Amino acid sequence: MNTIAAAALAIALIVAGTLFGRRALLIYRLIRMGKPVARFDDLPARAQAEVVVVIGQSKLLQRLGPGLMHAAIFWGFIVLFPTIFIAMIGAVDQHATLPWLGRQGWYALLVAIFAFLVLAGVIAAFVIRKVQRPQRFAGSHVREADVILLLIAGIVISLFVWHASRIALGLNEYPAAWAPISSLPAQALHQPWTPYLERAAVWAHVLIILSFLVYLPYSKHLHIFLAAVNVFFGRTRKRGRLEPVDLEAPDDQVRYGAATAADLTWKQMVDTMSCTECGRCQDVCPAFNTGKELSPKLLIMALRDQLLADGPKALAARGAAAQLPPLVPTAVTDNVVWDCVTCGATWSWSSRGFRRRRRRCCATSIAPPTRGASLRRIARTGQTGSAPMCSSPGRSPPTSCSGSAARRLTTSVPARVQSRLRSCSKRLASTSRSSGRASRAPATRRGGWVTSTRSSSRQGRTWGP
Ligand code: SF4
Repeated sequence: MNTIAAAALAIALIVAGTLFGRRALLIYRLIRMGKPVARFDDLPARAQAEVVVVIGQSKLLQRLGPGLMHAAIFWGFIVLFPTIFIAMIGAVDQHATLPWLGRQGWYALLVAIFAFLVLAGVIAAFVIRKVQRPQRFAGSHVREADVILLLIAGIVISLFVWHASRIALGLNEYPAAWAPISSLPAQALHQPWTPYLERAAVWAHVLIILSFLVYLPYSKHLHIFLAAVNVFFGRTRKRGRLEPVDLEAPDDQVRYGAATAADLTWKQMVDTMSCTECGRCQDVCPAFNTGKELSPKLLIMALRDQLLADGPKALAARGAAAQLPPLVPTAVTDNVVWDCVTCGATWSWSSRGFRRRRRRCCATSIAPPTRGASLRRIARTGQTGSAPMCSSPGRSPPTSCSGSAARRLTTSVPARVQSRLRSCSKRLASTSRSSGRASRAPATRRGGWVTSTRSSSRQGRTWGP
């Protein structure tokens, strides 16, 4: 073993580990800071999602070309993972390798096949991004993606060069025939400088991997670590169902949505950090495709940026309420929140949800003028549509709210919840008045939006964002 090489590797590992660990710790603390949400039930469904969506890449393969490109890179990295340790051992000792696996011909063949697939995937990704230039990448961090693709290409090319030079020097522990891609150039590498090439290639390989490791948590490629976690803790219930508001919880624990970054649940935080900025959600979003301001991709990116900017301040407050800017309109505008038609189209591609609207409406008295009629109807009858109210005398109950269900709705609600419902209803009524016509509260108009400037304080609660 070369002691200088061992010391150099130890220093490189410590530096990379420290930089990576600092960022990883911040992200872990941010996620721990998130509001609670129950995502530990239904373990079989979660395990199934992990196999189908993560290992099987099912969502990405809905688009065959880009899906195969991503799957080649993802599967390649799983197969190539042990080569990281093989290279580190080889960097320190030219004649050593990983016990057992490093000597297997079949593994050398797998490495050759999957390294080639990764390289093909990287080239395909460059062609998609630089030649095809699909609209879905507009607004994404394109430079970050380019850096990552170059690093991946560097990892694979240096691996091929290292293997080829080892075969040329007769250092390969496996039969050369099992590594067909490296064996070909090896025939031209019987040169006096090949030993230097072998050292340069293995060190380049190790250092690019460590740079890649450090860069990941600082870039959108954080999804490499968090996507699998995000899929595991995704919803297993029916799509499109909003999390119910727990009206029986103590006042300071009732959540109507997220006003600031600190109000996000830990799962929503993981959602934002596992976005790959691929733009598939934007491609299928009817609001975006009809010229609305909402882009699901830009929304999730803006929330992530806001979380990473405000999260450390909230952590520094150590449990005390930090003065954080509101998500709306700091991260996203009102239009973006209200443009969502909750169609669920993006669920096929990603597991993001849009719940900011509830907070905007229930907690801040801000709504677009066009919602006035609906909100007034809710305040008056408890319903958004023009169908009669369940308990209206002399009217037939609507089919969705009839019989015993209707009676339960009107008779079995605890007094504490009834008072909350009344409060919420009055709140909505005030919103509808401020958005539809003259408001009792002072109002300001911003780009067609009517904003009640009152910061209500019923029951001592501050309703402002
Ligand atoms: S939210 Fe999902 S589909 Fe949309 S850009 Fe991010 S990763 Fe892609």
